[in-house]
Amino acid sequence: MRSDIFILGIMMVVIGPVLTAAAASSCLFTILSGNIFACANDLPVFIGGGALFVTGIITCLVGVIMPEPYARPRPPSSTTTTTPTGQVTCKKCGRVNSFGLFACPFCGERAS
Ligand SMILES: [Zn+2]
Repeated sequence: MRSDIFILGIMMVVIGPVLTAAAASSCLFTILSGNIFACANDLPVFIGGGALFVTGIITCLVGVIMPEPYARPRPPSSTTTTTPTGQVTCKKCGRVNSFGLFACPFCGERAS
């Protein structure tokens, strides 16, 4: 389940019929005005809206089928990392303490 792809699909499903309805109403208005052939301009939008609707449904299905990317196990994160040179990364402010001190010179957090 990929919620972001699923939401994208839902949006396409919603926007598709809106485009189709807009094109249909525009087309109807043009016909009522007496200009029947001008309706051809709305045809790509009409088809595009329908295609967007179908693509949206497929996108929804793909979003449901696809596995959650955050479900995989994360590598163990170390807050205080000691580098081979003896440098200590502060776990509070994240700055590298290269002075070999037990306390961070930037924020006072004890490195140990
Ligand atoms: Zn610090």
